[in-house]
Amino acid sequence: MQAGGDDNATWAARDLRHVWHPCTQMKDHESLPPIPVRRGVGVWLEDYDGHRYLDAISSWWTNLFGHANARISGAVADQAANLEHVLLAGFTHKPAIVLAERLSALAPAGLSRCFYADNGSAAVEVALKMSFHYWQNSGRPAKQRFLTLSNSYHGETLGALSVGDVPLYRQVYDPLLLRVLTVPSPDCYQRAAGTSWAAHSEQQFALMEAALAQHADELAAVIVEPLVQCAGGMRMYDARYLALLREACDRHRVHLIADEIAVGFGRTGTLFACEQAGITPDFMCLSKGLTGGYLPLSVVLTGEQVYAAFYDEYCAQRAFLHSHSYTGNPLACAAALATLDIFASEPVLERNRALAARMAARAAPLGAHAHVAEVRQCGMILAIETVRHKATREPWPWQERRGLRAYRHALERGVLLRPLGGVIYCMPPYVITDAEADRIIDVAAECVEVLCGA
Ligand code: PMP
Repeated sequence: MQAGGDDNATWAARDLRHVWHPCTQMKDHESLPPIPVRRGVGVWLEDYDGHRYLDAISSWWTNLFGHANARISGAVADQAANLEHVLLAGFTHKPAIVLAERLSALAPAGLSRCFYADNGSAAVEVALKMSFHYWQNSGRPAKQRFLTLSNSYHGETLGALSVGDVPLYRQVYDPLLLRVLTVPSPDCYQRAAGTSWAAHSEQQFALMEAALAQHADELAAVIVEPLVQCAGGMRMYDARYLALLREACDRHRVHLIADEIAVGFGRTGTLFACEQAGITPDFMCLSKGLTGGYLPLSVVLTGEQVYAAFYDEYCAQRAFLHSHSYTGNPLACAAALATLDIFASEPVLERNRALAARMAARAAPLGAHAHVAEVRQCGMILAIETVRHKATREPWPWQERRGLRAYRHALERGVLLRPLGGVIYCMPPYVITDAEADRIIDVAAECVEVLCGA
């Protein structure tokens, strides 16, 4: 323990002596030190100097029902008093069992098997390996490749990074990655003027169909972020694409992996985004909101047919042996169960519909701004895409780091917004009040000015 004050400056200085932060050029902290958070209450974070920040991005899209939520905290505390952890191989526990039962009942029909892991990227690794291994076990050893969409993001471990397409994260590691096939995204920002989202998504599907037809024999799975490519700048597309993709994957005998890590648990307006297309993927990855933003946990749901392909005598060597120490941690499962209890006992999705409509209405005038190319929304995700030239949609040069200006401005105004390049977005916890939602949009509007200024 070192001597020092209990204020922002002291904690930031101590942090910078030892902590290496994610997604950060550490030199940036010379001019903008990390903000030490003392406590969270609802949608608010409070630092050691008493400043409060409205968490408009739900702490990387994890938090659903507020920080220090009494119900979830209570469930975690109760669980901690009984059993904090036990390995999930050879042993099991009630929270993991009940959570699997409840997720299977809530998920699209047929997803009756739950394989736990401990973060989003790990879930993606599990889904990729399981799909590959399924085909090995099923007499189709040539099916080894994965097909992904341009501008997609699925995490940053090497397998997950391989099926991602955001250069910022993958470029330097490219020599280490799996060789995947990439098809242009159905991203509706790219649609021609006058074309509907559904029509554009459908047109783009022709490219997917062609790739599937050509490569089905070597493809294990297609992986997508249903409806919203979040890390890729909150780019959105129509559910029609998912319906077409499901049908085509069946026809070509290729698995469909739905990465609902960011969009699951109500973000897009339905509990799971796949519901809007009426489809059941072969694998569905969940994390982030799964525990209400409390603890790292992830799960891959799949069906009986996949499960059966691994079920055999030990010596047949068909088992899925993937293992993480903290798989299905009881504290995290307890947080997830309390989160599902809130969904079950409160009209969450209904309330979100009203909140989403309110945010959209307040943000709509920004569409007229000289540097705003689009204001788009999908459920509790609202994004404002700013550009250098509106007519050509030329983006800002990334070296100008205009998003950082907006980030700093929002912090000064007591709101945590973290633009993705020129895209200012909000994705708040569901417990936000109308007045707080208005405040986010108002500060986002100021941020548009700051970001686009000379
Ligand atoms: N998939 C998607 C769609 C994501 O948005 C993320 C996280 N941003 C991940 C996977 C990776 O999750 P994690 O950060 O928990 O590894």
